[in-house]
Amino acid sequence: FTAGQYVGDDLWVPVLDGQPRQYVDLDTAATSSASVVVARAVQEFLPWYASVHRGAGIRSQLTSKRYEEAREIMVRFVGGDPATHQALFPRNTTEALNLLAFRLGLTRDDVVVTTAAEHHANLLPWQRHAQLRVVDVDESGTFDVSAVEAALDQHPRPRVLAVTGGSNVTGWLPDLRAIAAAARRRGVLVVVDGAQLVPHRPVDITALGIDVIAFSGHKMYAPFGAGALVVPRALLAGGEPFLVGGGAVEAVSFDDVVWADGPDRDDAGSPNVVGVVALTAAADELRSDGWSSVRAHEDHLVRALDSELRSVPGLRRLGPVTGDRLPVAAFNLEGVPHGLLAARLANEWAIGTRSGCFCAHPYMGRLLDLSEVEVAQFHADVRAGARHRLPGAVRVSANRQTYLTDIPLLGQALR
Ligand code: PMP
Repeated sequence: FTAGQYVGDDLWVPVLDGQPRQYVDLDTAATSSASVVVARAVQEFLPWYASVHRGAGIRSQLTSKRYEEAREIMVRFVGGDPATHQALFPRNTTEALNLLAFRLGLTRDDVVVTTAAEHHANLLPWQRHAQLRVVDVDESGTFDVSAVEAALDQHPRPRVLAVTGGSNVTGWLPDLRAIAAAARRRGVLVVVDGAQLVPHRPVDITALGIDVIAFSGHKMYAPFGAGALVVPRALLAGGEPFLVGGGAVEAVSFDDVVWADGPDRDDAGSPNVVGVVALTAAADELRSDGWSSVRAHEDHLVRALDSELRSVPGLRRLGPVTGDRLPVAAFNLEGVPHGLLAARLANEWAIGTRSGCFCAHPYMGRLLDLSEVEVAQFHADVRAGARHRLPGAVRVSANRQTYLTDIPLLGQALR
């Protein structure tokens, strides 16, 4: 064994005592493995793909058709109507939200309401283009609709509400239906970071009253490189594209450009059609396998995680431990630095987790009850080149590919 070896579908890796152990991936919230169905769809497509919208040949025509059909598939996957909504294919949720924040033409006078539970991807694009108004979280790492309403009612009136569909740190699922209704009643655009939600729950943006949703293929059993931004057609009808170049234009001269209409305006450069084929295969698989089976398995995982983690002496869990949640948990073990704990899980037990702040510094600051002074000191230290890190936690996460027996193993390792 060096880095490890596959036996069938199972990866075996060496651990510190020299014995191989079957690898257990409890870091699926970062990235999920591609499913067999997705891998097959990609394999079938590889021999004949060609450029999208750039060739007269039959392969290019078929590839272009497949690409345009994918837009409809992804709009429908999240309950949108292709007549009013379009799907763009940025690389991932981060790029999707950067694109959106740029394309909304926000100014420094505009207010975006966001929350303290966000991943940086749903914070920094808004921080860059507008003023943030933040809905804070309580000690359990959650907020309720009335806190969102209070933020929406402050002056000036916000243009956008940008909220997570599910937390990558705690697995908490905000009440999107109520939150979206509150924003819509006030004429505020509802943008949902669906990166963690979409792989785990059926999403119906029409029923929920969501205007825009962004998500990543690599968290929903497709590989890296293609995500989706599902957005009302009218919202991006005018204005300068985020990326400029070939494909996004109708006419170009040295001193003028006429932008293309529709999704082409936001599709400069040759698109990742292989990634998009994988994304649609993943979406179709989730839909056709039935959400109830995904849900049943993942609810088992949530309960198993709750009971295992409860039984570990000195373990302090972050965030809510009741109610409907994703199979995600963040915690600390008394007396063990989080980085060391994650390393021991990996090196002694072959359990893959993640430690740190999970691209959610403000949320982690709240969950760990850091004071403003501590946070300011940390920023000053980091600016000055200090190498120490913000306090953090270990995160475990699971999905429909996780074996139920992996969770007791985690408990055993932690105890
Ligand atoms: N939002 C959430 C809630 C996430 O968990 C992640 C990924 N950790 C992102 C956004 C960003 O996704 P990506 O890295 O694919 O852009």
